[in-house]
Amino acid sequence: MAEASWFDQGARVAVLSPEGVGKPLDYLAPEGGCFLGAFVEVPLGPRRVVGVVWGRGDGRFDAAKLRAVARVLDVPPMRAELRGFLIRMADYTMTPLAAVLRLATRTPGLFDPPGARRVYRLGHGSPGRETEARARVLEVLREHGGAGFYLGELAQLAGVTSQVVKGLVKSGAVEEAEQPRDLPYPRLDPDLPGKDLSPDQAAGAAALRAGAGAFGVTLLKGVTGSGKTEVYLEAVAECLRQGRQALVLLPEIALTSEFLTRVEARFGARPGEWHSGATQGERRRLWRMVAEGGCQMVVGARSALFLPFRDLGLIVVDEEHDTSYKQEEGALYNARDMAVLRASFGAAQVVLASATPSLESWANAEAGKYARVDLKSRFGASELPEMATIDMREERIESAHWISPSLVGAVLDRMSRGEQSMLFLNRRGYAPVTICRACGHQIGCDHCDARMVEHRFLKRLVCHQCGETKPIPTTCPSCNAEGKLAPVGPGVERLAEEVTERFPQARVAVLSSDLFGSARALKEAIGEIAAGAADIIIGTQIVAKGHNFPKLTLVGVIDADLGLQGSDLRAAERTFQLMRQVAGRAGRAERPGQALLQSYQPDHPVIRAILGGDEEAFWRAEAEGRRVAGVPPYGRMAGIILSGPDLQPLFEIGAELARRDAPLRRIGAQLFGPAPAPIARVRGRHRVRMLIKAEKAAPLQAAIGAWLRGMRLPNNVRLAVDIDPQSFL
Ligand code: ADP
Ligand code: ZN
Repeated sequence: MAEASWFDQGARVAVLSPEGVGKPLDYLAPEGGCFLGAFVEVPLGPRRVVGVVWGRGDGRFDAAKLRAVARVLDVPPMRAELRGFLIRMADYTMTPLAAVLRLATRTPGLFDPPGARRVYRLGHGSPGRETEARARVLEVLREHGGAGFYLGELAQLAGVTSQVVKGLVKSGAVEEAEQPRDLPYPRLDPDLPGKDLSPDQAAGAAALRAGAGAFGVTLLKGVTGSGKTEVYLEAVAECLRQGRQALVLLPEIALTSEFLTRVEARFGARPGEWHSGATQGERRRLWRMVAEGGCQMVVGARSALFLPFRDLGLIVVDEEHDTSYKQEEGALYNARDMAVLRASFGAAQVVLASATPSLESWANAEAGKYARVDLKSRFGASELPEMATIDMREERIESAHWISPSLVGAVLDRMSRGEQSMLFLNRRGYAPVTICRACGHQIGCDHCDARMVEHRFLKRLVCHQCGETKPIPTTCPSCNAEGKLAPVGPGVERLAEEVTERFPQARVAVLSSDLFGSARALKEAIGEIAAGAADIIIGTQIVAKGHNFPKLTLVGVIDADLGLQGSDLRAAERTFQLMRQVAGRAGRAERPGQALLQSYQPDHPVIRAILGGDEEAFWRAEAEGRRVAGVPPYGRMAGIILSGPDLQPLFEIGAELARRDAPLRRIGAQLFGPAPAPIARVRGRHRVRMLIKAEKAAPLQAAIGAWLRGMRLPNNVRLAVDIDPQSFL
């Protein structure tokens, strides 16, 4: 599998390092020579860092002064396909190449020999002396230590020193074990019989199979429960038959063991998993096995896109419209778009699956750039839920209450039949605003331009922008009045109070990410609830994704108008997607479901489109609006975010940039700003935004590059370019 290019010992090579200056540096090839793409260790100043042999040196260095590559790491060289993709991605997202390379090298144990490693797991002895620290170690191991942790990792997860772990080893409560060399994953068998597909599904599967083995993108659209997963697993099967590797990307929260079990049922073994909850040992094994061909299929979160696949033949992006595919920190990229880019470098097929595609993907399918497969009906007898609005202008509702009498009636009705109801409110915490009834002061974050959200469960105020928390004060920080602070508006925790008051006999479950210590704990809770452990489920948007609740027959949306009034270009699209998705949770297994949307604007076009079920009409209207406005996907945009400790210099830099905008004007682009960002301060840093709009065909990146070249920024000011911004915060 090694590529032709070989550098003899002593030859000059250019090495790109994620920790280096951003461009490749010249070194002498190591003793014994190396391949193009080899992972190497090189001296950089006083340190040794990892890098990748990127090409021939540019020859402008004095050979006598060159330092040599220290050693070649024992992993397969990075393939041309991945290098090409990273270069193109760096260009497209205007991110330094080294920062993009970091995404592909951020793997534990890259430096280690492939031999055995010592791991720590649950032993049979007693812990001996009982301390809180020891208890935490055992808890971490009990919760997810099956395969064992490295010492440092275990100590860090438990928040203890490694001495504590060693102590537990002595007492026998923890055992040391030699983990064998990274083993290949069990083989998946694509020829095991799949489910009998409906005619719709069979046609979809055939269309996907026909596209295997070549680059091409297919939008797979179908309501929740229509069998999209069944259909794309057939594309995976075809890819495996061709001897190539498949990657299924899921939003992190949808990465459930339920999904892995489904894959196992179809192919007879579990795929590799790549996500933040996997142990370092698991991730190291996966990284190596993917490179060596010892893993046929990976199910992973966003960053799995940068794994060193030996021969990637298929990328599925499930829930392709999900906003969590956009990385909003560091390298700013959209994993859905980058999946298409990577596939184009390796003759791979892409399947974008969604019940409510992004307008971008919908438009690409309309334009014929993507193929499209539609699954029209839900599998089996289950029908789409019946949807209706509850006109809140006509409901009699007490103050500080949010569940209308009509909705209360509907919930009682389900309870009498032993069915589940879900009340959906896309707002975490207890109350979004804490106000002083004496002076009107609203408690804000000290670091951001955001109001603090009361979290009663945590007994703290929390900033949803930067995560800053503080105790709930008893006196007003502005006027010192005592006992006058009052919560305003509902969050899921407050809604839960109202539910307990209204339905005292109901078993109530609140699903909000901050009520659970880990993603794993949350997933377990979701599993129990799906099995029937609650009558009423209260949830934020996390419940809208990828889990089946077979007993659920009613979804009540508390505030369907939330999200309609945002300044966001995509507000309507997001609301539409979320409502459709949440409604799709109701009535999956042969029981008809109903979705009730509480709204003060039942005539709003978005609400009407959600109800009407004429999705194509919604997308056409939304597309037309954007075409007229010349905004994505019919025009291009880029955000410029300046951040720094002081506001004034940021505006000055912004004004200076605006004055020298000739390179932008040359391509007909318009520049807006500088303006304070909607969230003007995050983590104590001020933020100022500029926005660039251009025509679809304009060479935007080149123009921005020319525009920013030669701009000197003070050390404490950062400038980030966000190509195709999703969020305008
Ligand atoms: P989606 O991905 O569109 O939400 P799924 O593939 O998860 O839909 O299908 C929904 C449910 O219906 C799953 O439990 C799935 O196993 C079942 N299902 C779908 N198609 C079939 C089929 N042809 N035969 C048996 N069960 C099916
Ligand atoms: Zn804050």
